[in-house]
Amino acid sequence: MESRAIYPGSFDPITYGHVDIIERGFQVFDEIIIAVLENPKKEPLFSTKERVAMIRGIYADRDNIKVMTFKGLLVDFVQAQKARVVIRGLRAISDFEYELQMALMNRNLAPDVETFFMMPSVKYSFLSSNLVREVALLGGSVTELVPELVARRLSQKIKRSTRR
Ligand code: ADP
Repeated sequence: MESRAIYPGSFDPITYGHVDIIERGFQVFDEIIIAVLENPKKEPLFSTKERVAMIRGIYADRDNIKVMTFKGLLVDFVQAQKARVVIRGLRAISDFEYELQMALMNRNLAPDVETFFMMPSVKYSFLSSNLVREVALLGGSVTELVPELVARRLSQKIKRSTRR
């Protein structure tokens, strides 16, 4: 049987940290569904549509990667996709408390859904979408932090917002 995992997040935008986790995920799973959260609390830089389009662009030639959006409870989405595993990335220790809380809450809600934690390469351990947005908005280079397509979209977005 093919094993399928769900990798949920905001992906605002997707970074090499996420890409690293996805590639590691394939050491264990046959198919990964990247699940883009539709209504994050904070105002995103990229709309859901833009975030999904970037991820689809990066993985256009991969038929074992699906990109979907979800809202509401993650465990409901996981079960609707007939999956049982949620992949989460763990960076520096700061991620741990929040991730543990979420994983245990999700287990409470759906005991047969497991959370699978993976550590990225050390080089991406301090990388976050938040940091990428900040560096890009301040005019710094993000070419080593995100796929080329994302770097292009970031600079287009920034040009547009500074023109206003
Ligand atoms: P959110 O911040 O809304 O949880 P993100 O899009 O930031 O969602 O991240 C989705 C998942 O990817 C989370 O599990 C997060 O810990 C993980 N992640 C994000 N950046 C990295 C990175 N640089 N290395 C490893 N995991 C990461």
